[in-house]
Amino acid sequence: MTKVSFFGAAGEVTGSNFLIETDTDKYIVDCGLFQGRDTISELNDQPLAYDPSTAGAVIVTHAHLDHIGRLPVLVRHGYRGPIFATEATIELATIFLNYALGLAEERSQREGAPLLYEEVDLNRALHQFQAVPYHKPHRLNGNDQFTLYDAGHILGSASILLQAGDKKIIFSGDIGHWPSPLLAAPEPPPTADLVVTEATYGGEEHEGSDNRVEVVKKALEWTSQNNGVLLIPAFSIERSQELLFLLHELFEKHQLPRMPIFLDSPLAIEALAVFERHMELYRREVVQDEHGGHNLFDFSSLALTPTVEDSKDINQAPHPKVIIAGSGMMAGGRIVHHLKHYLSRPDTYLLVIGFQAPGTLGSAIIGGAKQVHIHGQQVAVRAKVEVAEAFSGHADNSELMQWLRGIEMPPGGRLAIVHSEPDRAEKYLTFVKNHLPAANIIIPKIGTSVEV
Ligand code: ZN
Repeated sequence: MTKVSFFGAAGEVTGSNFLIETDTDKYIVDCGLFQGRDTISELNDQPLAYDPSTAGAVIVTHAHLDHIGRLPVLVRHGYRGPIFATEATIELATIFLNYALGLAEERSQREGAPLLYEEVDLNRALHQFQAVPYHKPHRLNGNDQFTLYDAGHILGSASILLQAGDKKIIFSGDIGHWPSPLLAAPEPPPTADLVVTEATYGGEEHEGSDNRVEVVKKALEWTSQNNGVLLIPAFSIERSQELLFLLHELFEKHQLPRMPIFLDSPLAIEALAVFERHMELYRREVVQDEHGGHNLFDFSSLALTPTVEDSKDINQAPHPKVIIAGSGMMAGGRIVHHLKHYLSRPDTYLLVIGFQAPGTLGSAIIGGAKQVHIHGQQVAVRAKVEVAEAFSGHADNSELMQWLRGIEMPPGGRLAIVHSEPDRAEKYLTFVKNHLPAANIIIPKIGTSVEV
């Protein structure tokens, strides 16, 4: 008997955590933070529903905090075994877990909130990481094994094919949206008895998603003609590096007028080093073109501004210029200072490339607000605001289906839909049923199990 239990990302997008049990062994896939509304993030404080010390292995899909943020909690509660992931995932996870602990410590001092884990747990967890390459089966206990496949979502991201007991289970992780400027298209693992798939964009299609180059080109041309400032709020991994890559391409290949680009995010700057170390993970065309994959991020127009002083100096730099800064939802971080400075200027172009959660400054701006409050000040919105969906890091409905079609399943093979808001999960279920009538599909609730 092989059983899969859903302890996170069930009926919601975040908190990825699955327990797999055979007659003799236990494995854990992902252990992420619940993120979002308060009622969701309170789930982080709930005790684990199982004893992690009895698990034989933890396998991680990718470095986003909703997949890795509670790994130190497993360690705190006695898990001492290996934590398997790709090398790039381990390097990015090290950056993000340290960052997350810093934030949690600040919050704890401010609000007295208890810490989920201490530095000692984090350091232990980092030592338990073991790198596994794509496509190479890795032996676990007995005949059990797992293999990682490129999920094309962020650098190092993987889907997992786990063979446990005599059953094969695929965990999609997050599946990327393609074509991506840097990453290869997601590859579905070959076969499974149960597919546990994400459906963040179930039932939704990305509009105009093939033209990332055009979006950036238009923004650069406008900024140059208006001698203005191009502001791009960006999440610290993947989107920031993708933007730099595209900007570099536009300068080199399309001979657009060069202007200084400021990467104003300490996290994105740290992550950049990981991207430079793992060029083997880029899609083939990038590695084979005239750059040979080298110096992709090393060009004279790019300025990295890790310190607060460097960041403040950007204001003095002459126009035109490009500023890429976090956070992606404009809910905090250095972008807020730049918005305060530049949003009221008609020569500012604000390019919004990421999801803006309701209630954030970003959602007010893209909703057409004429005035916004920033740091207690009224700021008029006179900038040109452009929203582009092309940069989504998640597969849309058609792409999810295309990925799924690549997997061979036996009659009676099952599909469990996770990482999805309930309405989107339902939409994806209906869509798959229409196309694969024989599919046996469930939308598991948190805390429930399925026998494979
Ligand atoms: Zn992700």
